[in-house]
Amino acid sequence: MKLNLDTLPFGRSALEVEETFPVEDGEGGWSGLSAGGELTVDNTDSRVLVAGVLAVSCPAVCDRCLEAFELAYEAGVDIQIIRAKPGTPGDEPPDTWILYQVRGEVDLDEPLREAALLDLPIKRVCREDCLGICPSCGADRNQKDCDCPRESADPRWDGLEP
Ligand SMILES: [Zn+2]
Ligand SMILES: [Zn+2]
Repeated sequence: MKLNLDTLPFGRSALEVEETFPVEDGEGGWSGLSAGGELTVDNTDSRVLVAGVLAVSCPAVCDRCLEAFELAYEAGVDIQIIRAKPGTPGDEPPDTWILYQVRGEVDLDEPLREAALLDLPIKRVCREDCLGICPSCGADRNQKDCDCPRESADPRWDGLEP
């Protein structure tokens, strides 16, 4: 999405975001990462701040049961558009995405996509109490209860089996 610096109202305004970004699904394919919400734009003489929290969702595979599900999380956005030529020295916080532009349209796709990817949870489970897959027989324990012992195999029995 684009933000036009020439028509942007001075001071504080709201920026409605409803975007879908392509992301690699880890298997060579692409899937869509949807980000939506309202960001705050603070437009001053020297810079424009775009900040807020977006609700993000993307297709994911559960770490425990390997079922596909829609992962939902929140991503913080912190973008600064500095109205100056690139290379202007500054002491901006490291978590902030910095763009240098004086006039015209600013493309926010890349910083918004990066913000959404940055907060992608490392642990992805379809639900907190997902029982996962049985390591012995491969049954999805959310679907059915298998007869396998819940504990890991007892090494004392090794070698006793025929
Ligand atoms: Zn699961
Ligand atoms: Zn089992």
